[in-house]
Amino acid sequence: MPRFPSPVRPFLLGAALSTLGACASQPPMTSSTAPAAIAVPAIQRPQGETPQWWFRSGAAQAALASAQANAGGQRAKNVIVFLGDGMSIPTIAAAHVLAGQRAGVDGESYRLSFERFPFSALSRTYETDQQTPDSAGTMTAIMTGVKTRAGFIGVSQVPRRQDCAGTRGQELVSALELAAAAGMSTGAVTTTRITHATPAATYGHLPERNWEVDADLSEAAKAAGCKDFAAQLIDFPVAGGLTVAMGGGRTEFMPAGADDPEYPTRVGQRLDGRNLIGEWTSSHPDGKYVWNAAQLKALDLSRTPRLLGLFEPSHMNYEHERPRDKAGEPSLAEMTASAIEVLKQNPNGFFLMVEGGRIDHALHAGNAYRALDETVSFAAAVQAALEHTDPAETLIVVTADHSHTLTFAGYPRRGNPILGKVTGATDSYDDESAPGLARDATGLPYTTLGFANGPGYTGASDQQPEGSKRFPHNPREYSAIGKGRPDLREVDTTDPDYLQEAILPLKSETHGGEDVAIFATGPGAAAFHGELEQNVIFHVIVQHAPRLRAELCKLGSCNADGVPVERPTRQAWLQQAGAAAR
Ligand SMILES: [Zn+2]
Repeated sequence: MPRFPSPVRPFLLGAALSTLGACASQPPMTSSTAPAAIAVPAIQRPQGETPQWWFRSGAAQAALASAQANAGGQRAKNVIVFLGDGMSIPTIAAAHVLAGQRAGVDGESYRLSFERFPFSALSRTYETDQQTPDSAGTMTAIMTGVKTRAGFIGVSQVPRRQDCAGTRGQELVSALELAAAAGMSTGAVTTTRITHATPAATYGHLPERNWEVDADLSEAAKAAGCKDFAAQLIDFPVAGGLTVAMGGGRTEFMPAGADDPEYPTRVGQRLDGRNLIGEWTSSHPDGKYVWNAAQLKALDLSRTPRLLGLFEPSHMNYEHERPRDKAGEPSLAEMTASAIEVLKQNPNGFFLMVEGGRIDHALHAGNAYRALDETVSFAAAVQAALEHTDPAETLIVVTADHSHTLTFAGYPRRGNPILGKVTGATDSYDDESAPGLARDATGLPYTTLGFANGPGYTGASDQQPEGSKRFPHNPREYSAIGKGRPDLREVDTTDPDYLQEAILPLKSETHGGEDVAIFATGPGAAAFHGELEQNVIFHVIVQHAPRLRAELCKLGSCNADGVPVERPTRQAWLQQAGAAAR
């Protein structure tokens, strides 16, 4: 039953499609498999946005996109969501050039695995309270179909940040939780701590992303019923927990003072004395716990019913440092392939989330090398998934949670090293030491990649006095501009540790507010087209994965056409799954 007061503005599919048909030269798209219109109330924004409004408007946009693409009849048994954290479009573009150049082929035309997918869309990433978003609210939108605030994980926008009591009843049900209740296998794999924002949004619920281990919570928060993400992962209340969880963050699962197996200087962090790894192994005697690459490699995965891998005390290493890891840790591609081998044993299918989590960290550090290297490694993980799944039954969605400030600019000639200095620009002039090197207005060379802000700030100013600059500069002034930039002639900008220059001095480079890309393949993937609000991703997935959709219908979410339009409560999910509500 619609809960909304009028006025209601229906997303009338027929009307929308006939308008498209009238002004487009292509034949109009048919809507034979389309459900009837999903009514979405007209609201004042942002004041009128409620969690239920987000859910319903996301459902309506997904149903419309699916009908426009004639994808309504497509059914996915398995779903994999690949999340490149902070993987902006310039990051993808620079990474594919790097990947091609490393392979000794043309970089500009090179395609990363997911850039070969048949369907793509843009994703609007703003949160209910932030123009430029963070990873917590954005992943919550992707996983639950509801946009929320920055810093919130699996919780609607209603409570205040860190308000544990106010969170009750405002938990959002994730696609992974639906999958667990629907008898599918479930997995979360990341290169960050498994308790970090992106993976936590698959299984966790807190109005504070930083509460990863109990030591991070105040006594008041604990007393008000909040529980850290490490404990939430191990205590996951349905189906005995996630089938597969792999990443870093080991010491968050170990009692305070307990010795880390890999590093003598690292110890467990838990103040509640719980040994969550020990609890997991004793409650899953047939499951396998591993903490290094050799142990993972030694497993007979097709006979491993459940897998927990914690490969570092905190985040896993960057791919660039991975070969030097003390105990050896698996690549993201190896973790992805291993996870799928465990998950695919279930005839009901699986839901898997794989995060390339350190793309974001490298960008925050202002270091393009590691960001691109992590993106190439992320693309290899997508390739591994393609090789280990049946394309006829697996929907694979690759996206990012938010952008960053990396820019890919200047007029470098075709084939110029992507991490190098710009050569061949129209305003360049030759000198004997560096022929073809492009020069800025002061005569200094510059790189193709740069940042709008971050640690790469090089100080000083141009010939204007310190402080804000006047627009427009007199072009004639350029020849007189002083020493505002470093002289890069003797600097190797392709060095992995080089920091690209940034305009604003910030200790940590920031996220960006523009759209990110969605790439998709498999059943339902055709529904990804146009420019979608980020929470629509969830709705496209559940509308094309019959088990997830049926689970939502059981929770009373579906309309007469079987489209999930009502936001389910976590309490209902717990009861439906037969778990003890806590
Ligand atoms: Zn970030």
